[in-house]
Amino acid sequence: MNSSYALEAVDVVKSYPDSHGEGRLIILNGVRLRLNPAERVAIVGPSGSGKSTLLHLLGGLDRPDSGSIKWSGEEMTGWSSDRLARERNRHIGFVFQFHHLLPEFTALENVLMPSLIAGDSDSVARERARYLLERLGLAERLDHRPSQLSGGEQQRVAMARALMNRPRLLLADEPTGNLDKRHSDLILQQLDELREEEGVSMLLITHDMELASDCDRQYRLQEGKLVEALQGAPLG
Ligand code: ADP
Ligand code: MG
Repeated sequence: MNSSYALEAVDVVKSYPDSHGEGRLIILNGVRLRLNPAERVAIVGPSGSGKSTLLHLLGGLDRPDSGSIKWSGEEMTGWSSDRLARERNRHIGFVFQFHHLLPEFTALENVLMPSLIAGDSDSVARERARYLLERLGLAERLDHRPSQLSGGEQQRVAMARALMNRPRLLLADEPTGNLDKRHSDLILQQLDELREEEGVSMLLITHDMELASDCDRQYRLQEGKLVEALQGAPLG
């Protein structure tokens, strides 16, 4: 049944006004996708094909023109902005290509932020934030500000923040797209260990075919639709 999917999208359509302001540019034209609990699924596709647009819709950061999106079986497209923000804070973790950390706060404070927003107890939250940062290799960096961290360290903080509220679903948009391959592989491996231990589903947008093949399933976004790669077939 529906409720068994961590995430389900059916017939999702999204368009933007064209540059002349006359017509609309259809970016997503009937996207279907299913993600099982604890499953790790990759989305690949050329630049400009609408991958980030799709991720924003699936995470409730933007709304589709039409179609259905369910989080753990619950239709979320009709929710008010307040409800959407609340549920997103509890159930969805985001990692973007750029970390979006708050510059005036320390690593620990940045990771704590989602729990403060949710109104969670401070000492328990601090313990979890510290644990996540330690697991991601940042035990010695808790009190550093983003500007005092390397690019890879900044992304680790963003990953800890994404996991802070024990989300059911992690949405990652080229999370290590600005790091070198070796560094990127290491960080994603550390993230994945935590993700697996906590049973979090993950949708990973990447142009790294090796990373994509490592996931449980792969979709390609082309001409506004998701096409699932056949098991064992090359993605390219
Ligand atoms: P990808 O992440 O696959 O590179 P995007 O989802 O960022 O692609 O963009 C898909 C298309 O939608 C691009 O042609 C882009 O210019 C267009 N687009 C994205 N966001 C907007 C927006 N807010 N307004 C108008 N067009 C947009
Ligand atoms: Mg993108």
